[in-house]
Amino acid sequence: MSNQEAYEKMYRRSIDDREAFWDEQAQLIHWHKPYDRVLDYDDPPFAKWFPGGLTNICYNAVDRHVAERGDQTAIIWVSTEVDKREHMSYRELYRQVNEMASLLLELGIGQGDRVLIYLPMMPEAIVAMLACVRIGAIHSVVFGGFAALALASRIDDASPKLVITADGGMRGGKIAPYKPLLSEGLAAVTVEKPAVLVLNRGLDTPPCPIEGEIDFASAIARHAGKEVPPVWVDSTHPSYILYTSGTTGRPKGVQRDTGGHMVAMRQSMKHIYGVEPGEVMFAGSDIGWVVGHSYIVYAPLLTGATTILYEGLPIRPDPGIWWSLVAEYGVNCLFTSPTAIRLLKKTGAEWITRHDLSSLRTMFLAGEPLDKETHRWVTEALRIPVVDNYWQTETGWPILTNFAGLGLMELKFGSPTKPSFGYDTVLLDETGAELGANTKGSLMVRPPLPPGCMSTIWGDDARFVKTYFSSAKEMLYATFDYAIFDDDGYYFIMGRNDDVINVAGHRLGTREVEEALCTHPAVAEAAAVGIQDQLKGQEIVAFVVLMTNAVPPTPEELKNVVARQIGGIAKPKFLHIVPGLPKTRSGKVIRRAILAIAEGRDPGDLPTIEDAKMLDVIRNAVK
Ligand code: ATP
Ligand code: MG
Repeated sequence: MSNQEAYEKMYRRSIDDREAFWDEQAQLIHWHKPYDRVLDYDDPPFAKWFPGGLTNICYNAVDRHVAERGDQTAIIWVSTEVDKREHMSYRELYRQVNEMASLLLELGIGQGDRVLIYLPMMPEAIVAMLACVRIGAIHSVVFGGFAALALASRIDDASPKLVITADGGMRGGKIAPYKPLLSEGLAAVTVEKPAVLVLNRGLDTPPCPIEGEIDFASAIARHAGKEVPPVWVDSTHPSYILYTSGTTGRPKGVQRDTGGHMVAMRQSMKHIYGVEPGEVMFAGSDIGWVVGHSYIVYAPLLTGATTILYEGLPIRPDPGIWWSLVAEYGVNCLFTSPTAIRLLKKTGAEWITRHDLSSLRTMFLAGEPLDKETHRWVTEALRIPVVDNYWQTETGWPILTNFAGLGLMELKFGSPTKPSFGYDTVLLDETGAELGANTKGSLMVRPPLPPGCMSTIWGDDARFVKTYFSSAKEMLYATFDYAIFDDDGYYFIMGRNDDVINVAGHRLGTREVEEALCTHPAVAEAAAVGIQDQLKGQEIVAFVVLMTNAVPPTPEELKNVVARQIGGIAKPKFLHIVPGLPKTRSGKVIRRAILAIAEGRDPGDLPTIEDAKMLDVIRNAVK
């Protein structure tokens, strides 16, 4: 059977014989008590996976491995910020998680209570996540780059009983004052104030006492050697809340269950990422994002693999840092974002090729459209398959992907390949009619969503139904992304629905224009938006970032590249060469902010922006 046939067979089964398929996958994890049913879908669109089953994530991610692989490294922590490296075995992880769980119990945290984790990329962050799920508490990790108000709104939404933070963190060699930011955030909180546990790393942050704060080091000392039995919770019990990136507006608190989440993680590691127990996974993301939750923490540990936790920037001390870690630790699978690769592309392939990367089998990229040129460039530099995978905080694991574990199908540059198991994908046009091959439309998923996907929006079932399931005649899950598939069933994401540009009746995905611009050898990155035009409906304005040592082309030359590749209709009216683009902290171009500025409007509140100076860059360009 070819890889293609093996995939088709499994995929069809995951849709046509859904329950049997997931029943089989569920055997990859330990159940304390078997589930009553595989799926309860009596109340659409709420899918309850494996109800009645009792299990525990921490037991599956830690305890289960101690007997078999207690001495194996679970976590390799590398910090280029505080210049430290640490290996933590599964046995040591078990010890630390138990002590932390014991401390949580002492602080009065119980099943269903929320714990907000606002920590830098340090092993204690993973320990805290696991300690929460061990006792049935629900964690909500907030990305360390968020400032006071973003933090306050998440505290208000999740109303945690406890916040775990550090005195500070480091980012690019500069101090990030975690505790002072939390202190400021707490002042703006409207719900009952949570208790605060502080990990003092001895960083040079301004002194800032918080009333009633608990010092972690002295508190945990009282729990040395303590063991806490895992609390067996129902499969449908919430394990965590994680807010979406906020690229398009108010973040949504994605609630994830316990059993379905684990089954999804474990089988995705096996089939998609192709990582076996004992192997090494490196996801160059942050635990504050879904990629970090899924592929730094849960999937590798549930698999009994070794995970690399990296604190620092991908280009510091130099752009070769990640590749030196791949060589040193024998990384088998690397996961990062197109943005990180485009940054490397700007600096040159020699940073990659000078290292011995023989352990690396596959690289995965997600988070933003991966343009064909970057896909080709990095594939040639690495000489291994590079897999684009498309998913969302909401789903927790890929909607569209190729399958390294199953045996890769042909890879097409620019395409995240095909639907993942359990995702019954559909494309709709503006009237809601279902589309066939080669026509652009909104990407939807026919529910029930597979295991691992969000169970609801935290505390707001109505918003969940309204936001995701109310845009089509039939009840379908909306991804809010614009896509197309070719005659071979390969998907291409064209951008977000909201960003679609309508020029004289032609609907263009932002991706199409950006993709064309990126084929020019001098172009590192591009962003396109459609500004209002009385005559044509919309006009295209493009912003281009050049390669570091490129001979600058003229705007006209770049506009013509687009005209040649897509047609005159897509030729940008204005094209600006800029030093950088406004992005979220997770590396996504904030097109709505660029559009607002290009139309002379105020971009509004952007709590997730990486560097607000980039807004001025756009302002100056369009002046
Ligand atoms: P918010 O929903 O709060 O506006 P967000 O959509 O950026 O923020 P995430 O869940 O982090 O939050 O990102 C998911 C989105 O990222 C997808 O819906 C899609 O637009 C984009 N995306 C992710 N992976 C890919 C990919 N491989 N190709 C193209 N786009 C991708
Ligand atoms: Mg989104």
